[in-house]
Amino acid sequence: MRDTDLYRQLLGLESPWTVTRVELAVKAQRVDVWAGHADGERWPCPECASPLALYDHAEERAWRHLDSCQFQTYLHARPPRVQCPTHGVKQVRLPWAEERARFTTLFERLAIDVLLETDILGATRILRISWDEAWHIQERAVARGQQAKPVGVPAQLGVDEKAAAKGQRYLTLVCDLAQGTVEYIADDRKQASLDGYFTGLTETQREGIAAVAMDMWAPYVESVRTHVPDGASKIVFDRFHIMGHVGDAVAAMRPSRGRSTSGCTGPSACPRSIRIASSPCRRWNSRRRGPG
Ligand SMILES: [Zn+2]
Repeated sequence: MRDTDLYRQLLGLESPWTVTRVELAVKAQRVDVWAGHADGERWPCPECASPLALYDHAEERAWRHLDSCQFQTYLHARPPRVQCPTHGVKQVRLPWAEERARFTTLFERLAIDVLLETDILGATRILRISWDEAWHIQERAVARGQQAKPVGVPAQLGVDEKAAAKGQRYLTLVCDLAQGTVEYIADDRKQASLDGYFTGLTETQREGIAAVAMDMWAPYVESVRTHVPDGASKIVFDRFHIMGHVGDAVAAMRPSRGRSTSGCTGPSACPRSIRIASSPCRRWNSRRRGPG
């Protein structure tokens, strides 16, 4: 079997897409694969699906894919563009990656599984990706969740801090105490960390908050007093009560052991993606911070 055929099958590329070139760089431990397509193809407009002739190609891009053995593998292509009479010049959807993704869908799925089992720093080491890239993947997963989950604000919130990694990095967690779900996670444990949850709510939603259980951490108290109407009277200092709920909610974020993602047809159809994305975590603060 030729290497181009091998990679076409490994990547699952179907007509009109095919693999045109494969380059192996042994020293760099890297495989580069170029995808191309047959001529004369009609492409659906990404907005209205009208079949259209090729207009031109966008610049060549590369997507990180699952490793080939220990070799980092990159898929390259020049995405076709169409000129729709209604929507203008648009880049067509590619079968291996979502719009604006830097990784193939299969790589992102693996990365999300790894992120669920470890922290960001651990994921960067296992996947050999940067801190920013790990955040990028995490944010995209959460954004999918935001689209999938109806917005509702729990009446009874639990707020707690959790050590995220060695070296006293903290996360702020907001939980729905009735449902036992994590609603929000932010970096650090400052007032701004919690402010981000409340500022994402409408005034009506903030008025609907009946009680906030937390320990006596001044920045959190200040955040609730600032953003929740009559906030001071809604704070319940009950650390032991909420810790159990927070622990349960965090445990629920982890996938069940041995669950396979094989057979998935895309992120929206993947059982684990839906779990991550739509269930436990509604918003993930987008502020970034390096590991040290
Ligand atoms: Zn169109």
